[in-house]
Amino acid sequence: AISGYAELMENGMARGPEVERFASEIRRNANRLLSLINDIIRLSELDNMEDAITFDQVDLYEIACRCADTLRINAQKHDVSFAIQGEPVMIRANREMMIELVNNLCDNAIRYNERGGWVAVTVREVKGKGVLVVEDNGIGIPKEHQDRIFERFYRVDKSRSKQTGGTGLGLAIVKHIVMLHDASLELVSEAGKGTKITVSF
Ligand code: ADP
Repeated sequence: AISGYAELMENGMARGPEVERFASEIRRNANRLLSLINDIIRLSELDNMEDAITFDQVDLYEIACRCADTLRINAQKHDVSFAIQGEPVMIRANREMMIELVNNLCDNAIRYNERGGWVAVTVREVKGKGVLVVEDNGIGIPKEHQDRIFERFYRVDKSRSKQTGGTGLGLAIVKHIVMLHDASLELVSEAGKGTKITVSF
């Protein structure tokens, strides 16, 4: 797309408002390409870093609250309400990866939502485990896709994913981070009703 639109402009085939449209397509696709490259690099780093990760005592609630400021602005843009609640919970984890995990899950909960929808993030200690729950009342995931969405490049609705800047790699990164932390992941979702993802550390 990038080279196609650029070629049209180069050959003088774009006039007036078309120039603007083609330029905006080039920018949108260039951004997607960048996200894709970043996600692929990230996954290959995660593939190779098992021994090099530093684990610290971190407060999962504090990390989620910090992410919330940026996520709230993103949610507002989509006309989705964003709430966070919980209590300080100390876990042994890599801080950067926890930020990435929270951001990826919340970003999805916002993007695969409808106008007027909500996203709720909860951090609690349950039976000695740190538990993060990201829940939304968005479009949900049909049963037949639920086993596969954590695979690399698997997307239920390719056009919505593409349109909203998705790469199909976000949940693969989440799964990887969960595995590197010996944590567990649970997905409960219903098409048209919403999605709840629980990570227990
Ligand atoms: P993408 O970059 O396409 O969002 P992800 O790996 O993050 O890729 O997610 C894979 C697919 O899972 C998405 O394309 C979408 O179809 C589905 N999905 C993920 N999170 C949600 C959610 N909260 N609600 C509905 N569908 C979701």
